[in-house]
Amino acid sequence: MTYDAIIIGMGIAGISAAIYAKRGGLNVLILEKERPGGIINIIDNVENYPGYTSISGPDLSMKLFEQINALEIPYQMEEVIELSVDQEEKIVKTTQNTYRAKNVLIATGRSPILLDLPNIDQLIGKGISTCALCDGALYKGKEIAVVGGGNSALQEALYLSKLVKKIYLIHRRNEFRASEELIKRIKKCPNVEFVYNSQVTNLQTENGVLSGIEINQEKKIPVSALFIYIGYAPKTDFASALNITNPAGYILVDDNYETTVPGIYAAGDIIIKKVYQIVTAAAEGASAAIHFSRQK
Ligand SMILES: Cc1cc2nc3c(=O)[nH]c(=O)nc-3n(C[C@H](O)[C@H](O)[C@H](O)COP(=O)(O)OP(=O)(O)OC[C@H]3O[C@@H](n4cnc5c(N)ncnc54)[C@H](O)[C@@H]3O)c2cc1C
Repeated sequence: MTYDAIIIGMGIAGISAAIYAKRGGLNVLILEKERPGGIINIIDNVENYPGYTSISGPDLSMKLFEQINALEIPYQMEEVIELSVDQEEKIVKTTQNTYRAKNVLIATGRSPILLDLPNIDQLIGKGISTCALCDGALYKGKEIAVVGGGNSALQEALYLSKLVKKIYLIHRRNEFRASEELIKRIKKCPNVEFVYNSQVTNLQTENGVLSGIEINQEKKIPVSALFIYIGYAPKTDFASALNITNPAGYILVDDNYETTVPGIYAAGDIIIKKVYQIVTAAAEGASAAIHFSRQK
């Protein structure tokens, strides 16, 4: 069987595309390796998505998933490991199956980057985290550090400030790159100490768990956790043979969100663009699906 469209990734970009494709009468399939909603699941509170004054990331994910089910859009929980082209058809290989489609939308998002420090991987879940919502409660009443200076870092530090005793907010520059609103709010938190012009240069451990961090190769700060928000890396290894990415792994698309390979589209955090937000990812997924629905 050949699908009209296969959508890789059930984050906001993939879900928006699936809604438009299904309502446009296409025979569509979504492939997702982890959970519906994608990275939204790790956001404490979304306050800038129209229709919701404030909604938790997991609740928004659940509402998106309800819509997928209400529209009876087929999906499989499978990881895509290879995407290739066979004449007009696209071949999508997962860990379990091989599917064929006329169009494919890549909406696989990106993952948080860790600091480049020895043994950091072994400390994930033992003091190192990139998800305040998942791990914040473990450090209730403790002293922790957050590293980063953009919207994600400040938004997550605000959430953590309600749980922990103290946060050292470490930023390599002398001012934040976040929205004015977030900067205003974080500066009002009495338990946040700002550590500007600083980098984490080492991690200290005790009995295999994080016990402290070293700043700028000199100062040591005892902390129970370090939450890292320094940037993200795209997930496009499975499409490497198609030559549709820039050296960093982000996908280049045209105005219709189509790549240089006809019938292969991309949307959301995975593409080269200026704004990485829920509302933009939704719009891009929808635009791509409208385009390939009209090609039918
Ligand atoms: C901490 C944090 C806070 C944020 N806060 C806000 C906010 O308040 N407001 C806002 O607008 N934006 C916010 N953002 C940004 C926003 O969440 C993203 O821009 C948006 O959700 C990206 O959606 P996406 O669909 O492109 O990708 P994702 O949500 O990352 O979805 C990609 C999906 O693809 C799946 N996938 C990946 N590889 C494969 C594969 N090989 N096979 C199958 N499935 C695969 C993943 O499991 C995932 O479910 C925040 C981001 C972070 C990290």
